Amino acid sequence: MKLIIYHLYPDLLDLYGDRGNVLALAARCRWRGIDVDIRKVSLGDPIDFAEANIIVLGGGSDREQSILVDDLSSRGTELKDAIEDGLVLLTICGGYQLLGQYYQTGEGKKIPGLGILDLYTVAGNKRLIGNVIIDIESGLKKNISWNYSSNVDEDSSQRLNTLVGFENHSGKTYLGSKLKPLGKVLRGYGNNGEDNREGVRYKNVFGTYLHGPLLPKNPHMADLLIELALERSGNVSKLLPLGDNIEVVAHKAIIERFGSNR
Ligand code: GLN
Repeated sequence: MKLIIYHLYPDLLDLYGDRGNVLALAARCRWRGIDVDIRKVSLGDPIDFAEANIIVLGGGSDREQSILVDDLSSRGTELKDAIEDGLVLLTICGGYQLLGQYYQTGEGKKIPGLGILDLYTVAGNKRLIGNVIIDIESGLKKNISWNYSSNVDEDSSQRLNTLVGFENHSGKTYLGSKLKPLGKVLRGYGNNGEDNREGVRYKNVFGTYLHGPLLPKNPHMADLLIELALERSGNVSKLLPLGDNIEVVAHKAIIERFGSNR
């Protein structure tokens, strides 16, 4: 069994070490005997969408977004078709914004997005920065198999129903009425600091403002992406449990430390 992970623009979109998410996916696969091929793709490099199992698109500043948007748009049709076909995508902050209709910068310049998701982003006049805790959207909770640790399957009190992370953006993102968020904000700002929503989920596409080590901090989210990718490629989707006690303790420590500000 093998998964091909495409890491898009690692040289441009790697704010706060978003590439750690690719490493976490690869490690969690390899620990289970699943081979992983990581392909780094930057401006002009080819992508074989038919072969791709997971695509990761990190975050970056307005400047980097402007540099790569034309290159990304040239792949827009193929990417859209693959998404409709169930390709698994993790997009973070600047990468998440680029899937939408547009991102309007603080200077009023509109960077066109790919228009794949019905959302748009407008820069506000203050940066939305800090630790974030979200309650995972209820429909999505059912998809998470909670097998991140060998001994917690039966113990619902051990289940992680939250995602924790760190955000830093000025863009405020608004979802179209048919789109579901990734979760409800318990702490932090999320999509726009106004509607208590964080991120987006559409088919197997996930967008979020949670930067940096999202997947190391949220092993259940990492496993969800792996399971969806395996399922789509017709492989066994039940993952072997891993001993994630340290990850679970770390996740809970963040919740205890920052709690809720709602
Ligand atoms: N440029 C975008 C913003 O500030 C994205 C920033 C990021 O990826 N952290 O909203």
